[in-house]
Amino acid sequence: MDSHNEPHNTSHEQAGHGPGQSGNAGQKQRQFEEQQQLDERLSQIKHKVLVLSGKGGVGKSTVAANLAISLALHGKQVGLLDIDIHGPSIPRLFGLVGHTVTGTEAGLVPVLYRDNLKIMSIGFLLARTDDAVIWRGPLKYNMIKQFLKDVDWGRLDYLVVDSPPGTGDEPLSVAQLIKNPAGAVVVTTPQELSLIDVRKSIEFCRALKMPVLGVIENMSGFVCPHCGNRSDIFKSGGGQTMAESMKVPFLGKVPIEPQLVISSDDGVPFLFQHPESETARAMQAAIAPIIGLDEVPSTPEHSSIPQQKSETSIRGEQNMMQHGPSEIRVAIPVSGQKLSAHFGHCDEFFLADIDQSTRTIKQTQSLTSPPHQPGLLPPWLGEHGVKVIIAGGMGSRAKELFAEAGIQVITGAPDESPERIINDYLNEKLVLGENVCDH
Ligand code: ADP
Repeated sequence: MDSHNEPHNTSHEQAGHGPGQSGNAGQKQRQFEEQQQLDERLSQIKHKVLVLSGKGGVGKSTVAANLAISLALHGKQVGLLDIDIHGPSIPRLFGLVGHTVTGTEAGLVPVLYRDNLKIMSIGFLLARTDDAVIWRGPLKYNMIKQFLKDVDWGRLDYLVVDSPPGTGDEPLSVAQLIKNPAGAVVVTTPQELSLIDVRKSIEFCRALKMPVLGVIENMSGFVCPHCGNRSDIFKSGGGQTMAESMKVPFLGKVPIEPQLVISSDDGVPFLFQHPESETARAMQAAIAPIIGLDEVPSTPEHSSIPQQKSETSIRGEQNMMQHGPSEIRVAIPVSGQKLSAHFGHCDEFFLADIDQSTRTIKQTQSLTSPPHQPGLLPPWLGEHGVKVIIAGGMGSRAKELFAEAGIQVITGAPDESPERIINDYLNEKLVLGENVCDH
């Protein structure tokens, strides 16, 4: 799937080639460190929402900007990141054309547009708006990665990402580099041509196992400002029918709004200028499930318990932890979206901050696992604040090293998705099998 010159490290590569055995070792180490920095940066952000569209010109940037504003108006700490390298429109929408980026040791400083709304656009870095068009694939990938890694957002409730349009390499890079996004909002217009493209966007999300938060049908009908009558200039409802047939949520229709074009051209966000309009209300309504991400605690899914050969309840271990702080960070080794039985050679670690008193997951993130090196994981996971590891199997020496680093190890967990394992763990439903020892 990774069509770039920079594939992610695989467990095989990590395990099989030490320094000196491969000319790529230095490059891999650098890639690993960059991914670490990126993961670290993004771990400060609770919910990352990608705004996608099947093609350009359907209002993706307009929707991204207004989603960010709606979230900020709800009192959330919000970042808006414009990474549409072919047509960064966010500077224009916010009257920030010509703004240049400043940097500190901590990274690139986003524009503080309001107390709780920060903005960064790749347009701030391009001398001319057509600069990006001439870049070749790997350069674009590097630019996107560098940019994601370097922006100093600080702590945020939401990062709304205005992604490049389509389903090609550029949105793919963004979706792959941002680990664990809350999901994607897909913008379409009602015409059939646009709907064909938006189906591809939904398939794209599915291929990446990224949740689709919903579809917004933009430029859907026109409400006459004089008589209030509605005319469906480009048809209407196609997005809704498509969303239903593809079984993804429909977030609403945003009408064609002449004032929106004027606001955009003037560089004043529409929602600030016309908060009472039908368009503003439609935009506000569309964010309901996104706001919900931050307000409804993650609830465990009610699913049947996987049966293992020999069953051992971990209730005892949980009781032990109830005397500690109720919030704790748990790590699960993962390969291919599921628990990796080969602890030392997993692709990444799924980290979950859980509150044991309320049995909720507060936050999750993924960390690319470091190149395989004996004895490295206990201090490395310790530095990341991990207190409990839930693994399939682990050798006794490794267990000792984790104990010395103050990390409790639970072995024999099933080959399931990390989210399910955590939910079962929180609800004392996790059924453990044998420790499939990883030598
Ligand atoms: P994209 O990011 O998909 O390329 P933009 O958000 O830049 O699209 O919007 C393209 C153009 O359409 C802009 O001029 C914008 O002001 C206009 N536009 C977007 N949504 C609406 C709408 N609901 N009504 C009227 N014009 C709109």
